[in-house]
Amino acid sequence: MNATSPNTPTTKSGVSMSDNMNAFQNAVAQFDEAAKIIGLTENQINLIKEPQKITIAKIPIRRDNGDIAIFTGLRVQHSSARGPAKGGIRFHPNVSLDEVKALAFWMTFKCAVANIPMGGAKGGVIVDPKALSPHELESLSRRYILEFSDVIGPDRDIPAPDVNTNAQIMAWMMDTFSLNKGDYLPAVITGKPIEIGGSLGRKEATSRGVFINVKMMAQHLGWTLTEKSAAVQGFGNVGSYAALFLHEAGVAVKGIADISGGYITEKKEGLNIPAMLEWVGDHGTLEGYTELGVTSPDDPMSVLEMDVDILVPAALENQITTSNAHHIKATLIAEGANGPITPNADHILFERGVHIIPDILCNSGGVTVSYLEWVQNRMGYYWTEEKVNEEMSEIMTRAINEVLKVSLARKISLRMAAFVVAIQRVLKASEIRGMYL
Ligand code: GLU
Repeated sequence: MNATSPNTPTTKSGVSMSDNMNAFQNAVAQFDEAAKIIGLTENQINLIKEPQKITIAKIPIRRDNGDIAIFTGLRVQHSSARGPAKGGIRFHPNVSLDEVKALAFWMTFKCAVANIPMGGAKGGVIVDPKALSPHELESLSRRYILEFSDVIGPDRDIPAPDVNTNAQIMAWMMDTFSLNKGDYLPAVITGKPIEIGGSLGRKEATSRGVFINVKMMAQHLGWTLTEKSAAVQGFGNVGSYAALFLHEAGVAVKGIADISGGYITEKKEGLNIPAMLEWVGDHGTLEGYTELGVTSPDDPMSVLEMDVDILVPAALENQITTSNAHHIKATLIAEGANGPITPNADHILFERGVHIIPDILCNSGGVTVSYLEWVQNRMGYYWTEEKVNEEMSEIMTRAINEVLKVSLARKISLRMAAFVVAIQRVLKASEIRGMYL
């Protein structure tokens, strides 16, 4: 939707708005706005804005019926100015180069805002993993890492799980990479199973980080969480645990949406989140889940517009656009997903006084514990879950306080403040390293 229509929403200043759904252009629009706030020169912008390296590979696999299927795999390394590039691998039919470029870009600034010594990357395969057998999925995962083994490595670029990829897939990838290099190299990938060098706490890390953000924002706003309600879009690894942490803190989680639909309740105590998690553990999705007093709206997107205090979009990009931004009732949005709000929708919400904890800060708990996993792999010494959570919480708390301080001092949104903090760190590292001839 690029053209303006008669129904195109306008901001208070009267500027008409429509959405650009190209994730990379949206990411760059955020960067440009922050660059203007900082007053970056053209040379400084050129140094850090565009991705460093893009690799595209053909990923052939043999299907169970003997046919050969060809998929397209991508890996974008946006920056390694502050450390090895870092970021997940996504298996999804809608993966595109622009999407992966955007996600890699966000990883650079996510690591910088959390102040962990890593750069940004992202990978993806254009595939519907649900259409593959377990054996085909294993072949795809192993072949992916093989095709990218020249650009990936424990000191070069370290992948991790993302949408539709998990610990088992990371294990296959680590195994393939290690066997091909003739070494045991657990630090090449994070989000692994505990048995082969994964970190305790990694599975719930992104959601724990989202929750720490919500808790600190609630404190800042003078809220008591037990009096608040929430809705969560997405019930995958991020959404499900974010809902659970909110539920355990006494927040009434009144709406959940996953690929099977929306689940909403009027009940004061909200949905039975532990029961929903158990259901997903047994069935894969929420399809068929029933609970007394719970209804399923026809349009799962309506969960976004529920009359709740806290909204956690934890699915994909571009979910809150100019077409639904005016209908959002929550006053605090915690971006569990990457890029769930288009830039124009972001402006509408900001003008309406909605507090948005931006993705690069809000969901950085995942990559923070990935970093801690990598540190443990490099040491060959493993921490207790308590120690991991403590380290992560310290890193997140510092990051949130830094962003809040800049936001208040400069009177800018939390998103712009997060970018201001992150861009300055990436720029500084790039400038100190300088130009090699
Ligand atoms: N895929 C996650 C993200 O978008 C985690 C990346 C990582 O751990 O490297 O932040």
